[in-house]
Amino acid sequence: MTSESAISIQAPALEAMIRGIFEAIGCDRDEAQTVASHLVESNLAGHDSHGVVRVPRYVEWHREGYIVAGRTPEVVTDGGAFMLLDAQRGFGQAVTKKAVAMGIDRARQHGAAVVALRNTGHCGRIGTYAEQAMAEGLLSIHFVNVAGSVLVAPYGGVDRRFSTAPIAIGVPLKDRPVVLDFATSLVAEGKVLVASNGGKGLPDGALIEPDGSLSNDPHTLYGDYPPVGPRIPGNGLGAIRAFGEHKGSGLALMCELLAGAFTAGGCAGPTATRGCITNGLLSIYLSPAHFGTDAEFQRMGREYVDWVAASRPIDPAVGVLMPGEAEARNRTARLRDGLILPGNIWEDLRRTATTLGVPVPAV
Ligand code: NAD
Repeated sequence: MTSESAISIQAPALEAMIRGIFEAIGCDRDEAQTVASHLVESNLAGHDSHGVVRVPRYVEWHREGYIVAGRTPEVVTDGGAFMLLDAQRGFGQAVTKKAVAMGIDRARQHGAAVVALRNTGHCGRIGTYAEQAMAEGLLSIHFVNVAGSVLVAPYGGVDRRFSTAPIAIGVPLKDRPVVLDFATSLVAEGKVLVASNGGKGLPDGALIEPDGSLSNDPHTLYGDYPPVGPRIPGNGLGAIRAFGEHKGSGLALMCELLAGAFTAGGCAGPTATRGCITNGLLSIYLSPAHFGTDAEFQRMGREYVDWVAASRPIDPAVGVLMPGEAEARNRTARLRDGLILPGNIWEDLRRTATTLGVPVPAV
């Protein structure tokens, strides 16, 4: 197989291999399973940028001691309906899932809860956590930043100042749940990573060169890189652009302030010196049942969302999608047809597994 030829694999086989990799480096089965299923779920949802492409980097970060297996969120401040938790650089998907469970528990007690979480290893696709709260009937809002990762130029500037600072909002309407989940950069860094590995290309003008000209070439962010192997964002001279002009740029700033400064986990810069990135999250959980509006919320919300979706589509073949529906469609198709991974991403994974003595499934 050349490094360019894409492979097809069914999600369960891929998940078992990834779980094996994390068990091999010292995670217990539960932690390894949480990380593996989160990553494969991201691929199923269509967010390959936050899927298994991350595995070699996580393994490297673990080896270098930047992320640590077996951590649980440490309670720094407990105010009942609000908490500050420190993830102690645990594996992001596992430790954040635990922090969200704590937020859900507090919202069940109080009707609302605010949980500030700092120092979590890269926690992946933020929509996953909104879905976790939605499964318990809760609305949730998550402001997120990435301490130690300066990748995005603010509106009007060319120098990097923000992380890709995502935001997610989950609204648990029965039979039509809505999950908005995106980076405040024009594209998530992982999408640049995927494009640099031969995956889906970047939209025009997603990146900006130091002279202010626009680009969609991953080299703007990573500088020179080999066909297979690490991509180092610090090597490029350019930046990703914030989405939505001055409005998206303002939202990115707020994510940095709420998830980075308020949690005291740190903003994207200027003084962050750590060797790998960590996420900060400021999460708000709301229980419609406690607010006493559950029936109306369900009725009005559903009626409204159906009405919005019924706007005459520009392209009838696509329709007007509500947030979360693109991911649901991808999940159905990819579970049925299998996942396609670019050859060099698979090669990187295969090498990682083989080095750790983990069986590699046939593809
Ligand atoms: P994106 O640009 O693909 O936008 C996704 C959002 O847009 C979803 O809510 C989706 O349902 C909605 N959407 C997609 N197509 C639509 C359509 N046709 N009509 C209406 N809505 C539509 O996402 P992104 O900015 O590339 O982010 C990708 C992922 O990266 C997210 O899951 C995010 O949480 C994650 N991320 C994580 C970190 C981190 O540090 N952990 C950092 C940045 C991004």
